[in-house]
Amino acid sequence: MPRKITIVMYHFVRDLKHSRYPEIKGLELQDFVGQVGYMRAHYTPITMEELIHAAHTKGYELPPKALLLTFDDGYIDHFTNVFPVLDRYGIQGCFFPPAKAITKHLVLDVNKIHFVLASVNDTTRIIQTIFSDIRENQSGYSLDRPESYYEKLAVAGRYDTADVVFIKRILQKGLPEELRARMVDKLFAEFVTGDEAAFARELYMDVEQLECMRRNGMFIGSHGYDHYWLDSLSKEEQEREIDLSLKFLGGIGCDLENWVMCYPYGGYNDSLLSILDMRGCRIGLSVSVGIADMERENPLALSRIDTNDLPKRSDAQPNEWTRKIMV
Ligand SMILES: [Zn+2]
Repeated sequence: MPRKITIVMYHFVRDLKHSRYPEIKGLELQDFVGQVGYMRAHYTPITMEELIHAAHTKGYELPPKALLLTFDDGYIDHFTNVFPVLDRYGIQGCFFPPAKAITKHLVLDVNKIHFVLASVNDTTRIIQTIFSDIRENQSGYSLDRPESYYEKLAVAGRYDTADVVFIKRILQKGLPEELRARMVDKLFAEFVTGDEAAFARELYMDVEQLECMRRNGMFIGSHGYDHYWLDSLSKEEQEREIDLSLKFLGGIGCDLENWVMCYPYGGYNDSLLSILDMRGCRIGLSVSVGIADMERENPLALSRIDTNDLPKRSDAQPNEWTRKIMV
């Protein structure tokens, strides 16, 4: 009885090679087009509305090899590059814009860090700035020596060097919030641009574009208001985040009886889940890697896979790994 679904997660989808920031981590547009071809050959795309129905209807069977495409962070790429491709093939995409970045024309901290990294070839320049900021604020915030943060946090990851992992971790979570935010702003102004609002307008979709996609059958869901790690907030702050994001979704005409939450950074906890339950959230999307299974998983914490886990050519044949994850 098929109750499993492959939910694919995307972020940037653009012609990276010819863009101003070819170093940005994302999917080349031609690879996206190839991947959609592969998916059309080997999967059955469904809609979020069907997934909501399946998650809340015992015994409801999804088609074999069911597939859903999700796009986080509200990038302009999704309107300009993704939407026309999906529209051409009648495939629904599910889009999760961070409300505040869209409405206030602010750049998410996580994006500021991306673009700082993409603008500076030599990561030691960024690390020097971070080290000197930590030293300057060492007594004020009772911080450790910069070297000890480096030793703790600089561990090479699956996709990143040790330096890049250090920069991301120290700027995302490793320091007191106020200092961390100030350091990110300073680096962004120094290495990327002093005009954050103009940059935000180029980086993200606007409300009209989101409305247009919704009218044309795409699904728009919540990605929070401020793009916080929601599991690090108090219950009151979590409620505020959710309510502001729902107000935003209401403004673009989304169905607030059947809404979906996509957790920024995959962060959620029991307190958040009970708030979502009370507000009538139907589906929650995590970043835990796997094929979502409605028999085993909480509908408010479904697994996803990354675009890099699937082939990027329409004529690719499933290999051992892709066959294993094709259910
Ligand atoms: Zn996000």
